[in-house]
Amino acid sequence: MPELPEMEAWRRQLNDPVSAFPIAKAGPAHIATLKTFDPPLQALEGRQLRGVERRGKRLLFPTADGELVLLVHLMTSGRLKSLRTGEKGPKTPAFALEFEGGSKLVLTENAKRKRAGVWLLTPVQAEAELEHLGPEALGLDAAALGEIVRRESRRLHPLLRDQRSIAGIGRAWANEILHTARLSPYALSTDLSDDEVGRLATAMNEELARGLELRERGSDDGKTYRVHKRLGEPCHVCGTPLAQVDFEEHTIYYCPGCQTGGRVLKDRRLSRLLR
Ligand SMILES: [Zn+2]
Repeated sequence: MPELPEMEAWRRQLNDPVSAFPIAKAGPAHIATLKTFDPPLQALEGRQLRGVERRGKRLLFPTADGELVLLVHLMTSGRLKSLRTGEKGPKTPAFALEFEGGSKLVLTENAKRKRAGVWLLTPVQAEAELEHLGPEALGLDAAALGEIVRRESRRLHPLLRDQRSIAGIGRAWANEILHTARLSPYALSTDLSDDEVGRLATAMNEELARGLELRERGSDDGKTYRVHKRLGEPCHVCGTPLAQVDFEEHTIYYCPGCQTGGRVLKDRRLSRLLR
């Protein structure tokens, strides 16, 4: 799933092309992708976008007149692409905008179940839609993070992924951040010392900045992740083979040498807990 570094790299890449010309045609949109009907999509036609903004993992495309905001959430397999005039695109995009002069913005989703979403909102509606999100992960300092981790006792991996607590981190970057911070994904947030909170804040900022830099250069997952989906490969810090554990509906990757004092974490799958 694209997370903060991936979305921010796309935001920077799309900002100029989508704001260069007014929208000539809004749509078509897959029925499962477009989540709103009022205002209608056609209300975008003739208007120009101001550029692209980002909040957590969502992209926002406000119109230059300040009246409408197109909000996009790619979920797991949605992808956005800017097409130059005449450039071939997908036959049936989940969503498309065509600009005057012929360039396009297309959203594709290569999955049976369409989960990516597009919302056309007024600025007030957009604000309400984003209200539940916690502060942005990139730029969060140790004091602000300390307040979040001490609010209630949560395991670190699900806490980092909880968009209401901190916005922008998903499974992959939670793995990378906790590895760099040398903290167990199962550690309880309220057990962290000040030093550990500081390490976590530093790791969060360093890892997300590293990810953004790599993604801006076009790096793929293999060149970007050092822990995520690398079961059995040697840890780049200590050489211990990386391990994985199932937690609720997710798989977590970690280094037993760097993060858990050599301990192997036990599965905590929801299905197993419910049995
Ligand atoms: Zn290690």
